[in-house]
Amino acid sequence: MATRAGFISEPQRQTPVKAETEVLVIGGGTAGVSAAVAAARNGAEVILVERLGYLGGLATGGLIALLLTLDDGRGRQVIGGLCQEITDRLQNRGAAHFPSRSEWGSADEKLVARDQQWGLVWGHGPHRVRYSVAYDAEEFKFALNTMVEETKARLLFHCYACDAIVDGDRITGVTFQSKAGRFAILAKTVIDASGDGDIFTSAGAPYEKEAVLPWLWFTMGGVENAEAAIEKGGWFFRTLGNGRVLLPWGATERVARKIDATDPDDLSYAELACRRRVMEQVDSMRAEIPGFAQAHICHIADQLGITESRRLVGRHVLAHDEVDRPCEDVIAITGNWTKYESLYYIPYRSLLAAQFANLIVAGRCISVDHRVHHATKEIPPCMATGEAAGVAAALSVRAGIEPAALDVKLIQIRLESQGAILRLP
Ligand SMILES: Cc1cc2nc3c(=O)[nH]c(=O)nc-3n(C[C@H](O)[C@H](O)[C@H](O)COP(=O)(O)OP(=O)(O)OC[C@H]3O[C@@H](n4cnc5c(N)ncnc54)[C@H](O)[C@@H]3O)c2cc1C
Repeated sequence: MATRAGFISEPQRQTPVKAETEVLVIGGGTAGVSAAVAAARNGAEVILVERLGYLGGLATGGLIALLLTLDDGRGRQVIGGLCQEITDRLQNRGAAHFPSRSEWGSADEKLVARDQQWGLVWGHGPHRVRYSVAYDAEEFKFALNTMVEETKARLLFHCYACDAIVDGDRITGVTFQSKAGRFAILAKTVIDASGDGDIFTSAGAPYEKEAVLPWLWFTMGGVENAEAAIEKGGWFFRTLGNGRVLLPWGATERVARKIDATDPDDLSYAELACRRRVMEQVDSMRAEIPGFAQAHICHIADQLGITESRRLVGRHVLAHDEVDRPCEDVIAITGNWTKYESLYYIPYRSLLAAQFANLIVAGRCISVDHRVHHATKEIPPCMATGEAAGVAAALSVRAGIEPAALDVKLIQIRLESQGAILRLP
């Protein structure tokens, strides 16, 4: 094996093609599942690949069990579609908590205080009731499983996407590593919903990257009178289940430095440091907060809370000064969880890489600037961009053209027919 300083040469290999499909979705977070479900419901042959053994990404494994937010801050719903559908499914199983429609936008202090206890109201006041949803993360995983299983999409867990297979301006497939070895899946359209933009990065598309302070949310059970402890200033929220609270560790306590969430050394440091400090917080809460003396840890998030890593620099970078400005090729609208009456109209161009005709990006790594990302990274807009990506992929496959060449009006008509909200009165 030839070597040069700092490198080894690996032997050339023949990689088996495991499957060919119309739409290949990388990442089973909320964006990826939405993309896969939307593409499959619209008639495409779909394979959804996830590196772990469950769906939902940060929304489940990160224990970020709050949909913030489906409204515009004045009581008007701006996200519907699959996000509304999963809310309905959770509600039917008693696994969601949210204010009733008649309360959205209300400035009633009692209602606002009630919702603050559930982590549904954030940012600076004067506050109003938001259409935000607290949910049970295990139920959320099950709802996502069910939604995928109801389609004909093929789901592959425990396969890590390695490299995009690039041919000119097309991505013809992706290679994967699994316990069974390396393999390729070929596809007409690829959707990168990996959160960190692993596919557009390996394909060579431009991106921006942020270092972040990692979070590690956790839940505790056996808490007595959580409401009183929260009223006294406790930095945690009521959540589904009697005597359980959700603790957004990282909000007040922090590790010593920011990390690059794509660097294994940084991630290893953060996994150890965050978990150690969560345990310190558990011990101090048991000792100091009335009601926590007998409390136990229910679950520490399986995944670090990474708010940001890579963002595509795509055909359009949605910028902060475009707030409240509708655009012709809107495929989703989102409010802002820390601001009232502040809307972003997400254009289809923010889902498209400039260099590749058949790559669509969805979720927290779409093409927006750092400040817009604060709003578009939330779970409801991630589901909305995922749904739009799936619809676009299916329509382009049916029409026999690349997603980048698709008439966006067709995507909009189909999205609206499925309950997505693209126009406001
Ligand atoms: C601390 C914190 C607090 C937050 N608070 C809220 C909140 O209260 N409410 C809210 O709505 N949002 C909140 N967010 C934002 C939100 O949770 C995420 O931005 C959103 O869930 C991202 O969804 P996604 O599908 O784009 O990415 P992810 O959830 O990251 O999903 C990506 C998926 O891709 C998989 N994957 C990654 N790489 C590969 C690969 N190479 N091969 C195969 N699979 C791969 C991952 O395992 C994962 O399942 C918060 C985020 C953080 C970090």
